[in-house]
Amino acid sequence: MRKNGTPITCSFGTSGIDRNLKMEEIFFRNCREFLQMVRVGLFLPRCRNCGLDLVLTEEIVICRNCREKIVSTAENQCRICGKFVAQGIESCGSCLLRPPPYRRHLSYAAYEGTLREIIILYKYGEMEPLKNFLSALYLDIIKRELFPEFDAVVPVPADLRRRHGFQPVRAMGRVLASRLGIEFMPRLLLKKKSTPPQVGLSQAQRKTNLDGAFCLAAGKKPSGLHILLIDDVTTTGTTIKKCAAMLKKGGARVTALTLAQSCF
Ligand SMILES: [Zn+2]
Ligand SMILES: [Zn+2]
Repeated sequence: MRKNGTPITCSFGTSGIDRNLKMEEIFFRNCREFLQMVRVGLFLPRCRNCGLDLVLTEEIVICRNCREKIVSTAENQCRICGKFVAQGIESCGSCLLRPPPYRRHLSYAAYEGTLREIIILYKYGEMEPLKNFLSALYLDIIKRELFPEFDAVVPVPADLRRRHGFQPVRAMGRVLASRLGIEFMPRLLLKKKSTPPQVGLSQAQRKTNLDGAFCLAAGKKPSGLHILLIDDVTTTGTTIKKCAAMLKKGGARVTALTLAQSCF
């Protein structure tokens, strides 16, 4: 009984049915929204760099927007060692004084911004599907700057500590060789001893850190071959030089490519 004396009655009229229908509608709408959130949150992949939804078929791991931010700076490099130089300069002083053991080395761009983030994601986040996108950057340099006259792709060997796990340079090398239609030789060049990363060492330490670190596999002589040597990032240029020197000693001509260079 209410305060004004009106008895409480249970209504089974039209308004009760409407209320039930509305509650049902709200329930199903909430369910739909919840399922949509689950679908987006769990199943629709997002760019690992910027977080945008990946909706296009070519967008694997990284969205198109992030990919388009990566622009080559190959035109501002020394024509021999690839070191970034001021516009108008053909060759840097050190190449003129001491020519390196390769014909040419080029980097796609500086190790910064989106390219740096993607390389870190690929190497340390072990995002293997990025090998296709990153190996296409080597191809881009080749098409613009070099004649694709190579006999084989050789990756800079991984350090001994990483030789049993994911080897990012080797994975890209395999894709690159396949796209160029040439041989892939991941075991031609070997690393004999583990060495600390060049980054963080003094200039004097960098010069000797990699002494005796690389060798050719027993019984392998790349005599007469034009080798495309690849690495991901170059810092001092020493790794590329040491590897190229070994290949040259075995009778090969070497052209080297890296995705990015920090400074050297
Ligand atoms: Zn993105
Ligand atoms: Zn140079």
